[in-house]
Amino acid sequence: MSKLTEWGRALADALMPRTCPVCGNPLHADERYICRACLVALPRTHLEDVEFNAMEQLFAGKVPIERATGYFYYQKTSPYAQILFDIKYRNRPQMGQWLTSRAAQEMRASGFFDGIGAIVPVPLHPSKRAERGYNQSDYLARGLAEALGVPVVQALKSTRAHGSQTRRGATDRWLNVQHTYTLNDKKTLTLENTHTLLVDDVVTTGATLEACARALLTIPGTTVSLFTLATARLD
Ligand SMILES: [Zn+2]
Repeated sequence: MSKLTEWGRALADALMPRTCPVCGNPLHADERYICRACLVALPRTHLEDVEFNAMEQLFAGKVPIERATGYFYYQKTSPYAQILFDIKYRNRPQMGQWLTSRAAQEMRASGFFDGIGAIVPVPLHPSKRAERGYNQSDYLARGLAEALGVPVVQALKSTRAHGSQTRRGATDRWLNVQHTYTLNDKKTLTLENTHTLLVDDVVTTGATLEACARALLTIPGTTVSLFTLATARLD
C-alpha cells in the first residue's frame, strides 16, 4: 500500500470507521473487510483436501461433477453468517471478491483448481438483479478468475416460470417460485471441452447448483466442478 493510499484510508476510517462484519470491531488501516483475528478463526472446511467429501456426496447420483468445495462453514447462528448477508444484501459484494481471491490462493496447493479453464457464476434472475443492483456470484467468480488467471464466462441465464401464482398468498408465491437455468447460447462455444468451475455464494440443498451444472453439462466435452464461498455442514 502506498503512503498516500494508507493516509487516505486512515482519514476515511476516522470520518466513517470501517468495522469487521464478524466481530463488529473497527478495522485497522491495514485490514481489509474482515479483521485479522476473525480471518484466522474463519471456520474453514478444507473439503478440497478430502476425497469424495460431503459436498461431492451431496451431488452423487444426481449430476456428474468432478470436484466440489466450499471455503468456510455457514451456520445461521454463527457470526460468520454476516459475511454472506453483507455480500448479498448490504451492497458489499467486493468483500466476496476479495475472499474468493484469498480462497484461490490458499487452496492452490491442494490441486483443486488444476485444469480449470473457465469460471461460470450462478446467475440471478434479471428482476432480482435489478432490485439488488448486482449479482454477488459475479464478484465471487471475479475474485477466483483474477487469482487463477482464467476468464469468467456468463454462460447461464435464469428465467422464472410464472404460472398462475398471482392468486396465491405471499408465502405460497415465494415457495412456488421456480427458477430455471438455461444456457446463454452465445457463450457456450467458449466452454466446449473445458473444465468449468461453477460458482455460488452458499450451498444448502444443492438444488440451484444441480440445475446449473445440468445445463452446463449439455455443452459438448464440458466437465464441471463446484465452488461456493460457504457451505452448510452437510455430514
Ligand atoms: Zn473481526
